[in-house]
Amino acid sequence: MNRREFLHTTAALPLLGGWPRGGPRRAALPLRANGARVNAALAAFDSVGRTAGGINRVAYSEADLAGRAFTLDLFRQAGLAPRIDAAGNIVARVEGTGRGLAPLVIGSHVDSVTDGGNFDGPLGSFGAIEVARSLREQRVRLRHPLEVVVWQNEEGGTIGSKAWVGTLTPADLDKVARSGVTIREGTGRIGGDASRLAEVVRKRVGPSAGAGQAVAGYLELHIEQGGLLEAAGLPIGVVQGIVGLRWMEVTIRGFANHAGATEMNRRQDAMLAAARFTVAVNEAIRSEPGRQVATVGRLVATPNTTNVIAGEVKLTVDLRDLDAAKIERFRLRFEQLGREIGAATGTAFAYAPLVDSEPALADPRMMEVVESSARALGLTSQRMPSGAGHDAQELARIAPIGMIFVPSVGGISHSPRELTKPGDVANGVDVLLNAVVEADRRLD
Ligand SMILES: [Zn+2]
Repeated sequence: MNRREFLHTTAALPLLGGWPRGGPRRAALPLRANGARVNAALAAFDSVGRTAGGINRVAYSEADLAGRAFTLDLFRQAGLAPRIDAAGNIVARVEGTGRGLAPLVIGSHVDSVTDGGNFDGPLGSFGAIEVARSLREQRVRLRHPLEVVVWQNEEGGTIGSKAWVGTLTPADLDKVARSGVTIREGTGRIGGDASRLAEVVRKRVGPSAGAGQAVAGYLELHIEQGGLLEAAGLPIGVVQGIVGLRWMEVTIRGFANHAGATEMNRRQDAMLAAARFTVAVNEAIRSEPGRQVATVGRLVATPNTTNVIAGEVKLTVDLRDLDAAKIERFRLRFEQLGREIGAATGTAFAYAPLVDSEPALADPRMMEVVESSARALGLTSQRMPSGAGHDAQELARIAPIGMIFVPSVGGISHSPRELTKPGDVANGVDVLLNAVVEADRRLD
């Protein structure tokens, strides 16, 4: 957005808002949420599921149930009427002034990993509740209905959001969650009903979907979980998308032979080939600008013995980027490197795909509304990819999505040391609030 468009946007914003008693409300912009309320809720939530190892609100556990009860209370304190949908998500809806519009959806999750922290999920969940509460208290009504959603079991595979998109399979439901019950059983335990999942499926806005079945747009506030914002001294990250991921297993076959009796120039050393390949992958991925990453993270040598040249090595490559074409290009490059190194070392490389997930891109309008909201609040921001998965990546299949990142102290997450400072929490909620108002104006 250029300066002129931005001025136009900010000039238009005060005309927003609904038509409560006394006529249309002209909200003073930017709006401010009550950040202290969100920080207080996060502080109180810190004792729910806290053990010596960290936060343990693993989906369907007693602590998860306690966390959901705490969250349901917050919804009610905010004047919202939450219900549990068939997928086990907590959902509350505020009607808009427009006719026949699909809802804007905001939210996150409150389940955690094992020995995790208190901000991954709860920040965006409590922030979304606060946004609905601030809009009501400040008598700002949106055109679109607003739905606040706390997705179930994000950490175990974005289960609740997959249910909305309709990609949750019977095999997914039969998987045993970390708390020991199947996802099907767990969904029942939290008040859902896995036999009625068809009820929650939403479709892309269009002729095939009525407003009741669609999502106009999805916004999620989340901690960054990396160290970029803190290192750059930036309060807000504008997420460009959730990176796609390719996992490959590479098997390198050489010849196991005596480590003392075999001359150096007569070896087919799979370990040496693996070492060269590991370095080559690193050099290749760094050889061009961009945020692409590649990691050789696991390596198993056979026979894995001190006095035998390795006859075989199996290793894994983890490759990620926002651009699916770039991922494919690097995958082919890595195969080519294997052929070259194999020829030079007398070994053979074979590749097997393990996991393949497509990038989920943020909608350009959503990135703009987050940026202009941050700017209106006097907060600097930067566009960045999300290296971690989120419920937003599922919603991206059916709706324009956007995400707001706030700094993680030390870039640490999925750890009891996970922390986002109160001022950053408040900034993130303020940006979400204004982004919702702006998205309400811009989206159909
Ligand atoms: Zn999360």
